[in-house]
Amino acid sequence: MDSSEFRKRGKDMVDYIADYLEQIESRQVFPDVEPGYLRPLIPDAAPEEGETYQAIMQDVERVIMPGVTHWHNPYFFAYFPTANSFPAMLADMLSGALGCIGFSWAASPACTELETVMLDWLGKMIGLPEHFLAGSKGEGGGVIQGTASEATLMALLAARTKVTRALQLEKPELTEAEIISRLVAYSSDQAHSSVERAGLISGVKMKKIPSDENYAAQGQALKTALEEDKANGLIPVFLCATLGTTASCAFDNLMELGPLCNAENIWLHIDAAYAGSAFICPEFRYLMKGVEFADSFNFNPHKWLLVNFDCSTFWVKKRSDLIGAFKMDPVYLQYDQQESGLITDYRHWQIPLGRRFRSLKLWFVFRMYGVKGLQEHIRKHVSLAHEFMDYVKQDNRFEICAPVILGLVCFRLKGSNELNKALLHKINNSKKIHLVPCCLGDTFVLRFAVCARNVDSNHIIFAWKHIEELAVELLNA
Ligand code: PLP
Repeated sequence: MDSSEFRKRGKDMVDYIADYLEQIESRQVFPDVEPGYLRPLIPDAAPEEGETYQAIMQDVERVIMPGVTHWHNPYFFAYFPTANSFPAMLADMLSGALGCIGFSWAASPACTELETVMLDWLGKMIGLPEHFLAGSKGEGGGVIQGTASEATLMALLAARTKVTRALQLEKPELTEAEIISRLVAYSSDQAHSSVERAGLISGVKMKKIPSDENYAAQGQALKTALEEDKANGLIPVFLCATLGTTASCAFDNLMELGPLCNAENIWLHIDAAYAGSAFICPEFRYLMKGVEFADSFNFNPHKWLLVNFDCSTFWVKKRSDLIGAFKMDPVYLQYDQQESGLITDYRHWQIPLGRRFRSLKLWFVFRMYGVKGLQEHIRKHVSLAHEFMDYVKQDNRFEICAPVILGLVCFRLKGSNELNKALLHKINNSKKIHLVPCCLGDTFVLRFAVCARNVDSNHIIFAWKHIEELAVELLNA
């Protein structure tokens, strides 16, 4: 493909995408295919000779679309949202075209510098304390990671290294392995599985502290765990608190957990993967009260802030904690301006070396929507979730299972777990809407997450009526 064909095909692709998104409601939200459906539809090996663009696009409809779950269909209410907007898609296209790999300042100064400034913009937009911002002389700063899972892992690895080095200075006879075997990290029993996984990857024991009746972690539970573990010779090193848990969107109590962590020298990381976007609205910032105690904070604009995947923003109070833990400086990555002391080399802030120019997506979205446009998006979703909650509450066969605060409603039919599993099965088999479940304690619960950018009240009404009809069928069977 030469540039003149690219001009034509690029425009065709923009039309294809615009048509896809405009007409997405006409596509079934969840596909009909079975596992292994795709292999028989395409050849066993790549073609020897190049093919035409038209042939590929025909195969997009024949091979790909039948197996797509349409996350941006307004009848998609599963998981949490994944963001999607035209400015972000255009910025992604530009990032692809520039194709620079911004592992160091010199590798592409704009890639590094825009990211630093965008993370400062975003930190201010959501009301993060000043110490998380890089500014021109701050000790903190932000970076774009691929996912919240990576951010949690980075925070835990940085905490592990910080404590290990400090202990080795104090007691040089201790080996790194001896220290690491005594380290212990915590999260609530509602934390995302990626937190437990960070423990597995880092080799640090990860303990779950019990959450309260609203699925939030409180100080007393941490205190009890700390006392027990310290008495057993363990070294508490890290707590991952969640703002907006995956199961029910519960908020851990930072005002209690934070001071405890600070007093015990425990790295406090905040995982606000979903809920963080809501803090762009001042009325939801009460939910992050206590954030000032944290050492690191993360959320996913790629979930709810109209920035397409991937874009997970991660701030640290002291960037030297990250850089100090992961710095590698081989000769082939060094450059003249490195000695100026003003340089951010983001390769020290992440696991991979290479990184895309993802901050373009933030820049385009922030400028085209403005803070007000983004606030409108969040408020609309929260209001639609409350609309759905009201429908559930008006039907005494159903119950609401957890406080509805943002865009997620946990609900179920009053009755057994089996009854609710059967209801979910019916809902997802009918493929008119798509939901996923969760367990709150031993209770099987249906999650209704407001997801698509274009979802509206009429979709919520349809979804509720559909759920009600299927429930009636089930109860009368
Ligand atoms: N943390 C929370 C609270 C989440 O809800 C999720 C995913 O939904 C994650 C972490 C994992 O996100 P990621 O896919 O960005 O790693």
